[in-house]
Amino acid sequence: MKLTFLGTGTSTGVPSIACQCETCLSDDPRDKRLRVSILIEHKNTKILVDTSSDFRQQALRAKINRLDAVFITHCHVDHVFGLDDIRPLNFRHGAMGVYANEIAWKDLRRIFQYVFEPTHFGGGLPKLIPHTVVHNSPFSFGNDISVTPLEVIHGRLPVVAYRFNDFAYATDLKIIPPDSMDGLRDLEVLVLDCVRIKTHSTHLCLEEALAIIEDLKPKRAFLTHLNHDILYKRDALLLPDNVQFAVDEMTVD
Ligand SMILES: [Zn+2]
Ligand SMILES: [Zn+2]
Repeated sequence: MKLTFLGTGTSTGVPSIACQCETCLSDDPRDKRLRVSILIEHKNTKILVDTSSDFRQQALRAKINRLDAVFITHCHVDHVFGLDDIRPLNFRHGAMGVYANEIAWKDLRRIFQYVFEPTHFGGGLPKLIPHTVVHNSPFSFGNDISVTPLEVIHGRLPVVAYRFNDFAYATDLKIIPPDSMDGLRDLEVLVLDCVRIKTHSTHLCLEEALAIIEDLKPKRAFLTHLNHDILYKRDALLLPDNVQFAVDEMTVD
Protein backbone atom coordinates (compact mmCIF):
# COMPACT_ATOMS: atom_id res chain seq x y z
CA MET A 1 0.00 0.00 0.00
CA LYS A 2 1.31 3.43 -0.93
CA LEU A 3 0.22 6.61 0.77
CA THR A 4 0.75 10.09 -0.69
CA PHE A 5 0.19 13.21 1.37
CA LEU A 6 -1.66 15.57 -0.97
CA GLY A 7 -1.98 18.19 1.76
CA THR A 8 -0.91 18.43 5.41
CA GLY A 9 -2.08 21.89 6.46
CA THR A 10 -4.77 23.17 8.75
CA SER A 11 -7.96 24.80 7.42
CA THR A 12 -6.25 28.07 6.40
CA GLY A 13 -3.37 26.30 4.67
CA VAL A 14 0.23 27.31 5.35
CA PRO A 15 1.31 29.97 4.58
CA SER A 16 -1.79 31.64 5.93
CA ILE A 17 -3.08 34.66 4.00
CA ALA A 18 -1.48 37.93 5.19
CA CYS A 19 0.60 36.23 7.90
CA GLN A 20 4.19 37.38 8.43
CA CYS A 21 5.23 34.69 10.92
CA GLU A 22 8.45 32.72 10.58
CA THR A 23 6.70 29.63 9.16
CA CYS A 24 4.56 31.56 6.71
CA LEU A 25 7.66 33.40 5.44
CA SER A 26 9.80 30.22 5.40
CA ASP A 27 11.47 29.14 2.15
CA ASP A 28 11.56 25.53 3.35
CA PRO A 29 9.20 23.46 1.14
CA ARG A 30 8.37 21.42 4.26
CA ASP A 31 6.56 24.50 5.58
CA LYS A 32 4.20 24.74 2.56
CA ARG A 33 0.96 22.96 3.40
CA LEU A 34 -2.18 22.62 1.31
CA ARG A 35 -5.40 21.55 3.02
CA VAL A 36 -5.34 17.95 4.33
CA SER A 37 -5.96 15.02 2.03
CA ILE A 38 -4.28 11.72 1.22
CA LEU A 39 -4.18 9.37 -1.74
CA ILE A 40 -4.01 5.63 -1.06
CA GLU A 41 -2.91 3.22 -3.78
CA HIS A 42 -3.04 -0.53 -3.33
CA LYS A 43 -2.90 -3.13 -6.12
CA ASN A 44 -4.37 -0.77 -8.72
CA THR A 45 -7.07 0.59 -6.37
CA LYS A 46 -6.89 4.35 -5.80
CA ILE A 47 -8.71 5.98 -2.90
CA LEU A 48 -8.81 9.65 -2.03
CA VAL A 49 -9.55 10.69 1.55
CA ASP A 50 -11.33 14.06 1.50
CA THR A 51 -11.82 16.39 -1.46
CA SER A 52 -10.06 19.34 0.14
CA SER A 53 -10.49 22.97 -0.87
CA ASP A 54 -7.18 22.47 -2.73
CA PHE A 55 -8.25 19.24 -4.49
CA ARG A 56 -7.88 20.55 -8.05
CA GLN A 57 -4.32 21.74 -7.43
CA GLN A 58 -3.48 18.54 -5.55
CA ALA A 59 -4.85 16.27 -8.29
CA LEU A 60 -2.84 18.11 -10.93
CA ARG A 61 0.31 18.10 -8.79
CA ALA A 62 0.03 14.36 -8.02
CA LYS A 63 -1.08 13.57 -11.61
CA ILE A 64 -4.21 11.78 -10.43
CA ASN A 65 -5.88 10.35 -13.54
CA ARG A 66 -8.36 7.99 -11.91
CA LEU A 67 -9.97 7.41 -8.51
CA ASP A 68 -12.01 4.43 -7.42
CA ALA A 69 -13.65 6.27 -4.52
CA VAL A 70 -13.57 9.20 -2.18
CA PHE A 71 -13.82 8.68 1.57
CA ILE A 72 -14.95 11.73 3.53
CA THR A 73 -13.87 12.20 7.15
CA HIS A 74 -16.38 14.98 7.91
CA CYS A 75 -18.15 17.87 6.26
CA HIS A 76 -15.97 20.84 7.15
CA VAL A 77 -15.01 23.23 4.36
CA ASP A 78 -11.31 22.36 4.23
CA HIS A 79 -12.19 18.66 3.73
CA VAL A 80 -15.03 18.81 1.20
CA PHE A 81 -15.06 22.00 -0.83
CA GLY A 82 -13.12 20.39 -3.68
CA LEU A 83 -15.93 17.89 -4.31
CA ASP A 84 -17.12 19.64 -7.48
CA ASP A 85 -13.65 19.08 -8.99
CA ILE A 86 -14.18 15.32 -9.33
CA ARG A 87 -16.05 16.21 -12.56
CA PRO A 88 -13.10 15.74 -14.95
CA LEU A 89 -12.65 12.23 -13.52
CA ASN A 90 -16.39 11.58 -13.99
CA PHE A 91 -16.12 12.64 -17.65
CA ARG A 92 -13.46 9.95 -18.15
CA HIS A 93 -14.56 7.18 -15.83
CA GLY A 94 -18.22 7.78 -14.91
CA ALA A 95 -19.81 8.14 -11.48
CA MET A 96 -17.63 7.80 -8.40
CA GLY A 97 -18.46 6.21 -5.05
CA VAL A 98 -18.34 8.66 -2.15
CA TYR A 99 -18.29 7.32 1.41
CA ALA A 100 -19.22 9.37 4.47
CA ASN A 101 -21.07 8.98 7.76
CA GLU A 102 -24.74 9.92 8.14
CA ILE A 103 -24.00 13.32 9.73
CA ALA A 104 -21.65 14.29 6.92
CA TRP A 105 -24.18 13.19 4.27
CA LYS A 106 -26.82 15.44 5.82
CA ASP A 107 -24.51 18.46 5.44
CA LEU A 108 -23.15 17.37 2.04
CA ARG A 109 -26.68 17.10 0.63
CA ARG A 110 -27.46 20.61 1.89
CA ILE A 111 -24.20 22.28 0.83
CA PHE A 112 -24.08 20.52 -2.55
CA GLN A 113 -27.86 20.61 -3.08
CA TYR A 114 -27.34 21.34 -6.80
CA VAL A 115 -25.74 17.89 -7.16
CA PHE A 116 -28.58 15.97 -5.53
CA GLU A 117 -31.54 18.09 -6.63
CA PRO A 118 -30.51 19.64 -9.94
CA THR A 119 -32.77 22.56 -10.72
CA HIS A 120 -30.93 24.42 -13.44
CA PHE A 121 -30.12 23.80 -17.09
CA GLY A 122 -26.59 23.36 -18.35
CA GLY A 123 -23.37 23.09 -16.41
CA GLY A 124 -21.67 19.81 -15.61
CA LEU A 125 -22.49 18.23 -12.28
CA PRO A 126 -20.32 15.88 -10.24
CA LYS A 127 -21.58 12.31 -10.57
CA LEU A 128 -21.37 10.45 -7.32
CA ILE A 129 -22.78 7.31 -5.78
CA PRO A 130 -23.39 7.94 -2.06
CA HIS A 131 -22.48 5.27 0.48
CA THR A 132 -23.00 5.65 4.22
CA VAL A 133 -20.33 4.29 6.52
CA VAL A 134 -21.06 3.15 10.06
CA HIS A 135 -18.71 3.14 13.03
CA ASN A 136 -16.94 -0.19 13.46
CA SER A 137 -18.68 -1.81 10.47
CA PRO A 138 -15.80 -2.97 8.26
CA PHE A 139 -16.23 -3.68 4.56
CA SER A 140 -13.92 -4.71 1.78
CA PHE A 141 -13.10 -2.33 -1.02
CA GLY A 142 -11.32 -2.66 -4.37
CA ASN A 143 -8.45 -5.05 -4.60
CA ASP A 144 -7.78 -6.54 -1.18
CA ILE A 145 -8.50 -3.57 1.08
CA SER A 146 -10.40 -3.96 4.33
CA VAL A 147 -11.88 -0.62 5.39
CA THR A 148 -12.94 0.03 8.99
CA PRO A 149 -14.65 3.36 9.75
CA LEU A 150 -13.97 4.41 13.36
CA GLU A 151 -15.67 7.30 15.11
CA VAL A 152 -13.51 10.02 16.65
CA ILE A 153 -14.70 13.28 18.19
CA HIS A 154 -13.76 16.71 16.77
CA GLY A 155 -15.06 19.16 19.41
CA ARG A 156 -18.64 17.85 19.46
CA LEU A 157 -18.71 16.50 15.89
CA PRO A 158 -18.35 12.77 15.21
CA VAL A 159 -15.71 12.38 12.50
CA VAL A 160 -14.68 9.21 10.68
CA ALA A 161 -11.15 7.88 11.04
CA TYR A 162 -10.49 5.20 8.41
CA ARG A 163 -8.44 2.09 8.84
CA PHE A 164 -7.24 0.49 5.57
CA ASN A 165 -5.62 -2.89 6.37
CA ASP A 166 -2.71 -1.98 8.70
CA PHE A 167 -2.72 1.74 7.90
CA ALA A 168 -5.03 4.30 9.53
CA TYR A 169 -5.85 7.95 8.91
CA ALA A 170 -7.26 9.87 11.87
CA THR A 171 -7.48 13.63 11.44
CA ASP A 172 -9.63 16.37 12.96
CA LEU A 173 -10.16 14.97 16.42
CA LYS A 174 -9.79 15.81 20.07
CA ILE A 175 -10.97 12.51 21.54
CA ILE A 176 -10.66 8.90 20.40
CA PRO A 177 -13.29 6.82 22.24
CA PRO A 178 -12.01 3.53 23.74
CA ASP A 179 -13.51 1.19 21.11
CA SER A 180 -12.01 3.32 18.33
CA MET A 181 -8.65 3.18 20.13
CA ASP A 182 -8.97 -0.62 20.02
CA GLY A 183 -9.56 -0.43 16.26
CA LEU A 184 -6.32 1.54 15.83
CA ARG A 185 -3.93 -0.98 17.39
CA ASP A 186 -1.38 -3.16 15.55
CA LEU A 187 -0.80 -0.60 12.81
CA GLU A 188 2.20 -0.31 10.53
CA VAL A 189 1.45 3.36 9.91
CA LEU A 190 -0.83 5.84 11.66
CA VAL A 191 -1.48 9.35 10.38
CA LEU A 192 -2.78 11.48 13.22
CA ASP A 193 -4.14 14.97 13.75
CA CYS A 194 -1.78 17.51 15.39
CA VAL A 195 -2.83 21.09 14.70
CA ARG A 196 -0.12 22.83 16.73
CA ILE A 197 2.15 22.69 19.77
CA LYS A 198 -0.26 24.48 22.13
CA THR A 199 -3.52 22.90 23.27
CA HIS A 200 -6.60 23.45 21.05
CA SER A 201 -10.34 23.02 21.73
CA THR A 202 -11.18 20.69 18.82
CA HIS A 203 -7.85 19.25 17.60
CA LEU A 204 -5.00 17.33 19.19
CA CYS A 205 -1.95 19.37 20.14
CA LEU A 206 1.52 17.85 19.96
CA GLU A 207 1.62 16.49 23.50
CA GLU A 208 -1.81 14.84 23.14
CA ALA A 209 -0.93 13.35 19.75
CA LEU A 210 2.32 11.87 21.10
CA ALA A 211 0.48 10.40 24.10
CA ILE A 212 -1.98 8.63 21.77
CA ILE A 213 0.88 7.32 19.63
CA GLU A 214 2.62 6.08 22.77
CA ASP A 215 -0.56 4.18 23.70
CA LEU A 216 -1.35 2.78 20.21
CA LYS A 217 2.26 1.92 19.34
CA PRO A 218 2.08 1.97 15.53
CA LYS A 219 5.42 1.12 13.88
CA ARG A 220 5.50 4.63 12.36
CA ALA A 221 3.34 7.71 12.82
CA PHE A 222 2.94 10.93 10.83
CA LEU A 223 1.37 14.11 12.20
CA THR A 224 -0.88 16.13 9.90
CA HIS A 225 -3.33 19.11 9.79
CA LEU A 226 -0.38 21.25 10.90
CA ASN A 227 -0.76 24.99 11.31
CA HIS A 228 1.85 27.74 11.07
CA ASP A 229 2.97 27.37 14.70
CA ILE A 230 4.93 24.36 13.47
CA LEU A 231 8.21 25.24 11.78
CA TYR A 232 9.45 21.97 10.34
CA LYS A 233 13.18 22.30 10.90
CA ARG A 234 12.89 23.58 14.48
CA ASP A 235 10.01 21.44 15.71
CA ALA A 236 10.95 18.10 14.10
CA LEU A 237 13.53 17.92 16.91
CA LEU A 238 10.67 17.53 19.41
CA LEU A 239 9.55 14.20 17.91
CA PRO A 240 10.51 10.65 18.91
CA ASP A 241 12.25 8.44 16.32
CA ASN A 242 9.12 6.72 14.98
CA VAL A 243 7.15 9.97 14.52
CA GLN A 244 7.46 12.58 11.76
CA PHE A 245 5.58 15.64 10.64
CA ALA A 246 3.84 14.83 7.37
CA VAL A 247 4.99 16.91 4.41
CA ASP A 248 3.05 17.69 1.24
CA GLU A 249 3.87 15.25 -1.60
CA MET A 250 5.68 12.85 0.77
CA THR A 251 4.95 9.19 0.00
CA VAL A 252 5.01 6.28 2.45
CA ASP A 253 5.01 2.57 1.59
ZN1 LIG B 1 -9.82 20.14 9.07
ZN1 LIG C 1 1.82 32.37 9.85
